[in-house]
Amino acid sequence: MSQDIENQDISAALVASRQGQLIDPFGRTVSYLRVSVTDRCDFRCVYCMSEHMTFLPKREILSLEELDRLCSAFVSRGVRKIRITGGEPLVRRNIMQLFKGLSRHLDSGALEELTLTTNGSQLARFAAQLYGFGMRRINVSIDTLDPRKFRDITRWGDLAKVRAGLDAAVAAGLAVKINTVALKGVNEHELADMIAWAHGNGFDITLIETMPLGDIGGDRVDQYLPLSVVREKLSERWTLEDIAYKTGGPARYVTVRETGGRLGLITPLTHNFCESCNRVRLTCTGTLYMCLGQNDAADLRAPLRASESNDAVLQTIDEAIGRKPEGHDFVIGRSPGGSGTSLARHMSVTGG
Ligand code: SAM
Repeated sequence: MSQDIENQDISAALVASRQGQLIDPFGRTVSYLRVSVTDRCDFRCVYCMSEHMTFLPKREILSLEELDRLCSAFVSRGVRKIRITGGEPLVRRNIMQLFKGLSRHLDSGALEELTLTTNGSQLARFAAQLYGFGMRRINVSIDTLDPRKFRDITRWGDLAKVRAGLDAAVAAGLAVKINTVALKGVNEHELADMIAWAHGNGFDITLIETMPLGDIGGDRVDQYLPLSVVREKLSERWTLEDIAYKTGGPARYVTVRETGGRLGLITPLTHNFCESCNRVRLTCTGTLYMCLGQNDAADLRAPLRASESNDAVLQTIDEAIGRKPEGHDFVIGRSPGGSGTSLARHMSVTGG
């Protein structure tokens, strides 16, 4: 074989592997990218952030064009679903440009779903545009329907604004899933009513256990409410039926026979959901986390900014996927500082 033909074979093999999917050492295909587009938020939820957060300097944050380039690199490697999160994604300036840009991958069929996790505060402004850019489903985080309690939990939030946002989402044609963090002694006794409200409005709802991420200036052990306890309580009122429904996410689903609606339960601390993990997380600084509950990460910003070609970025992504761990190891109440936090970074950094 001549040197030329050998070189051609090698580059053909490289192209094939580059066009291939992202498969981790445990055989899991990574097809889902969650992107935190800002670490900033217009709320200060007590379990998520401290009241006085220091945010990242602007130069460290990827531009919208850079975010598009990275997302598109993942799409070229088989990512089929992108969720934009934060911080609060809808407070990032000109964020609609990113949705507009990424919608080309929906149009081409390369991307199956472009979706969003939001606190809903800006939805009234943006819901119709989001639908126009191909979005069909969104997650909206609401922990209580009591306006005063809402203000207490979010510190800065206005429930009326969020409800107006929900109305706008429905009017635009977006399917809504409500995400509710179960908080001991805070919304514990309201959860059944929230489920009834969500189902009554045609929304799915998922309950989430608090995860030990980031210093929040309080004690997480106080907030932690195991969903096993919640489920037992709900069972006194309703018939919960396990169903096989899966979204590729960490939630397990039940239907509530009496409401006919679907309820998701995300229990990172009482149930290990890692075996079917298909996702990685990108921060607004271009750091790729292969697991929400581990510190190992890869810097994609340096190779991104070093060259106009995506070769180095793709190589860094491949190496990172090659290190995706089998699972997380959150442990509440076992942090060195004693605050019940097992990872230093906040959820607003990695995205929820
Ligand atoms: N601002 C958007 C929102 O409110 O949905 C997106 C980012 S927020 C970090 C995403 C989700 O993470 C929210 O549902 C929030 O309640 C949840 N979250 C934040 N910190 C958490 C923690 N320590 N444990 C569990 N869920 C948390």
